[in-house]
Amino acid sequence: MAPINELQRVEPGGFHIGCPHCQQELRIHRKYAGCHVECKLCRGRFRLDPESSSTRLVGFFAECPHCLEELRAAWRYRQARVACKRCGGRIQFVPLKPAQQNPAVPGTVDG
Ligand SMILES: [Zn+2]
Ligand SMILES: [Zn+2]
Repeated sequence: MAPINELQRVEPGGFHIGCPHCQQELRIHRKYAGCHVECKLCRGRFRLDPESSSTRLVGFFAECPHCLEELRAAWRYRQARVACKRCGGRIQFVPLKPAQQNPAVPGTVDG
């Protein structure tokens, strides 16, 4: 495990989002970013787009790389440098990378 005072970059593990239909707060894993999801409470469907201003992001959660405790932070801290509440480890939150999109690989093309 990395030394505790070493700054670790952490992507969100998922998001807390206000459902646009029933306004209840939902916890959604990051793997659904960019996907259409269904609210488990009202069954309303919406697209989870963390970068869209129409998405009601409340916050996000992430695992502390130092102590593996789950941390929760308000959305405005998504690019903040913080210290873990539990272990004091230093964390730099970084935005979620877009899902694997198979970038066009330059190079030779067969055929
Ligand atoms: Zn809902
Ligand atoms: Zn920690």
